[in-house]
Amino acid sequence: MNRILPVLTTDDIFPEYQQTPVGLLLEYHNLNRPLDPQINAQALIGMCMDNRKHLRIPDNFAYIIRAGGANLRYSEFKVSYAVAIGEVKSIILIGHNNCGMVNLISRRDQFIQGLVDRAGWTREWAEEHFMHFAPMFEIGNEIDFILCEAKRLRLRYPKIQVAPLFYKVEDNLLYQLSED
Ligand SMILES: [Zn+2]
Repeated sequence: MNRILPVLTTDDIFPEYQQTPVGLLLEYHNLNRPLDPQINAQALIGMCMDNRKHLRIPDNFAYIIRAGGANLRYSEFKVSYAVAIGEVKSIILIGHNNCGMVNLISRRDQFIQGLVDRAGWTREWAEEHFMHFAPMFEIGNEIDFILCEAKRLRLRYPKIQVAPLFYKVEDNLLYQLSED
């Protein structure tokens, strides 16, 4: 079953996303909807820090938290801020393919050597840093992680819409994820 569903016309947008900030984001980014000026933030977007991605959205449209793998587990206060003070209506999580937070352990040696060579760290420091943090930031699989993170955030913020989306780095488009 294909869990990644394209948005090529407004009719492709899931009914639950129509007339919401999620649908608006899909129209702005995928369908070239004119960037009508926004006065207030509509959404909080959680996306990976990866350099290959950027979104087409109007000014003021969204708070954005960028973190490896779009993992918001360690950004909870910022999420709460966007909900409570920013008054966002939706949290939009955007995973992407070829994410560096998948299978971090395979990059262990490169990570440690990179810190030694580029940052001036000792090898011991770098090893300890990697071994301490890699398990916290490992996401396993991009799609499973983003769906799981969406479920977690729905329990945490039950009155807020939480939408998991997916970004393909090949075409720079957003896709919807089926959740059944
Ligand atoms: Zn990533």
